[in-house]
Amino acid sequence: MKKLFRLFLLGAVISVIVFSSISVFDIFFGDKMFVIKDRFFSSNEGRMPFPDDLSECETVSIPELIEKGAVFSDSLMLINSEYPLAENYAPALIDLNGNEVFINECAEKAYSGLKTAVTENCGDSLYIMSSFRTPDEQKEIKKAEGDYAADVYSSEHLTGLALDVYVMYHAGMGFLESDAGKFVNKSCHKHGFIIRYPYYGEETTGIPYEPWHIRYVGLPHSEIITENKITLEEYISSFVPGTFYFYGDYFISRQKEDEIRIPKELHEIAVSPDNTGFYFITGKY
Ligand SMILES: [Zn+2]
Repeated sequence: MKKLFRLFLLGAVISVIVFSSISVFDIFFGDKMFVIKDRFFSSNEGRMPFPDDLSECETVSIPELIEKGAVFSDSLMLINSEYPLAENYAPALIDLNGNEVFINECAEKAYSGLKTAVTENCGDSLYIMSSFRTPDEQKEIKKAEGDYAADVYSSEHLTGLALDVYVMYHAGMGFLESDAGKFVNKSCHKHGFIIRYPYYGEETTGIPYEPWHIRYVGLPHSEIITENKITLEEYISSFVPGTFYFYGDYFISRQKEDEIRIPKELHEIAVSPDNTGFYFITGKY
């Protein structure tokens, strides 16, 4: 009997430990379980040494950041039916190889890196079926495809950040049957791209799996999103505005335009609006 009681006591102690560690974990990471791999922490968690001391930080405006050499782009814009683009939105485009294939200029280098990697790993040439679209072009697609196409200003193709890619004989869902399609789906995050509508994302994006539609978000965001198997919607909403986050050498923060605070030593700074009213500041620390 005594043995049974001891066993019961042990069970009770173990349960208390397990449940209390779950709640500690919740406090640390919120219910989103946004971790991970022990590399992504917010400063509030006290897991990384970080200057919460204001003297080691400075408050800057967007123009001041650009003056400091920060690169400004639209890379982290969230575009969906909840957050459509402004009708006067005008992306910074570049004509890829002079072939009248326009993409957002911030994605140019990353795309050429991905294309090279596809050729090196699969021996195939990656092509773009559709990249930047004007509102009129999206209107035509919407007319033709109805519910299968995004509403005009909810299509991220209007930014030139989204690219529908294919290789010869393998486009659309068939892209996955090619080595290149498998490679792009497995590795595009290493080049700054994400599968914007992943097979696990329909509940949050409202859009079924599109293995051909890649979206530039830049490093390290593409890695964090892919490693954690989340969508861009979930990624952006996981950031508590004004909080500092770290991922490897990277500093990431989502802040209000008029109160941007960064560590003084921050370098290689990149700034992007997120189309939900905040700005993402990314840099090396
Ligand atoms: Zn697309």
